[in-house]
Amino acid sequence: MSASEQCIHGQVLASYGSHALVDCEDGENRECSIKGKRLRPVAGDRVSITLADNGGAVIAHIHERESELARQSGGGRHAQVLAANLDTLVVVIAPEPWPEPGIVDRYLAAAEHLGLQALIVLNKIDLTADEEPDWLSEFETLGYGVFRTSAERGTGLDALRARLARHTASLVGQSGVGKSSLLNRLMGEAIARTGEISDRSGEGRHTTTTAFLHRLPGQPGGLIDSPGVRDYHLPPVPPERVPFLFREIREAGSGCRFNNCRHRNEPGCAVMDAVDAGAIAQRRYRSFLRLLEQMETIGERNPGL
Ligand code: GDP
Ligand code: ZN
Repeated sequence: MSASEQCIHGQVLASYGSHALVDCEDGENRECSIKGKRLRPVAGDRVSITLADNGGAVIAHIHERESELARQSGGGRHAQVLAANLDTLVVVIAPEPWPEPGIVDRYLAAAEHLGLQALIVLNKIDLTADEEPDWLSEFETLGYGVFRTSAERGTGLDALRARLARHTASLVGQSGVGKSSLLNRLMGEAIARTGEISDRSGEGRHTTTTAFLHRLPGQPGGLIDSPGVRDYHLPPVPPERVPFLFREIREAGSGCRFNNCRHRNEPGCAVMDAVDAGAIAQRRYRSFLRLLEQMETIGERNPGL
């Protein structure tokens, strides 16, 4: 670094390959070029930037990531990192039709796999007067917060905004449940400004594919969004990891006779005891067995994974 250069820190709002938009600690958003081909910053990355006298800004270093959201390709052999440093996964569902709860289990398992907090948003509450299914309250019993919203009417958004304050989160879930609508409503005016910034950079056409960190108004964290992020789902994991992705099974499993117990037919299994005693919901246990079997099958077909 020459005498005329200055170093500052920032967080990547969006990365376009050859350059990135960075929210710098001095409060400015800067278009930065990227030093070297090996640096691949993504939305959410914390970076060090060198500022030259001529106003040029260069990302010189990416700080170690606390978490990564990656998309698998090539049958799980390659991973493309979409976003970094998330701490929360928001699983969005909607009634009419109610989803199969196993889908929610899988999203929550993905959050456990990544070491993220998880919460559930039941959106479109304006559409139904039905009673909620039992499985929804099961998730609350397990400690997953459930927020009830209507992006359409603006219901429940303040509580969700308050929960997300100071966190970096992504909304995931099936198509059509209202993730884009929620993001827009949560951001309010701010999202219109993000659009302006992307267009000014001449990269407008990229804004639909690259992940973008949207700051919640007045908050340090924000929401990272892109089509790829919204479609995130659990990648193939080694079968022995599956028992750790269901929190009540992980907890009860510490009491099993064998520490590599898969809780299926092993003697001295504390998880099966807990299911028999009603302390673990039958539905969750069956869902766990299904996921375990799927991962075993994937593992058998792809021994290298
Ligand atoms: P995404 O695919 O998850 O991003 O879902 P969208 O945000 O695109 O929403 C899908 C459809 O559901 C759109 O037609 C929205 O207008 C509608 N929608 C979103 N939120 C609500 C809501 O709270 N209530 C109702 N009734 N419709 C909603
Ligand atoms: Zn067991």
